[in-house]
Amino acid sequence: MLSAGEGENAVFVAWPKDGESQLPKLDPRETYRFELIQEYQRFPQGGLEGIPAGHWRSELIRIEQKDRTLYDATICRIHQHQMSRQTVPISYGLPLFSKEYLEELKTRFPNANSAVLGGCSVSPDSPKYSRSFRCERCMQEERAWEEQNPRG
Ligand SMILES: [Zn+2]
Repeated sequence: MLSAGEGENAVFVAWPKDGESQLPKLDPRETYRFELIQEYQRFPQGGLEGIPAGHWRSELIRIEQKDRTLYDATICRIHQHQMSRQTVPISYGLPLFSKEYLEELKTRFPNANSAVLGGCSVSPDSPKYSRSFRCERCMQEERAWEEQNPRG
């Protein structure tokens, strides 16, 4: 069941962050089943004068065609491990990650998701937390990498 926000007639779906490389090519003549997860995201200052309490956020979880699963955002593509939905802090500002870290992130622990990047502009009503799928094995890999490569 999908509900658009108040006064809206469309539902915006957050595409997976690595979606372009992971999503299958879809044929417009075929019928697919899209599974979305909808979560209410509360704004920190929500409810105060002029600020809405929050908003509904939809995220793509699964694409199925007949009995075949074409895409599943709940399974880590590196570890083929079932992930769990967790609350993660949103980090604002320019991320200061080394090139090496980003390279490892892509290939060894893409779903560690210790933080979600919120972009450079932050305002009082910017949300502080988001929800994300996290892979236990990715989190272990990230911790191991951080121990081997302490930040100066
Ligand atoms: Zn993983």
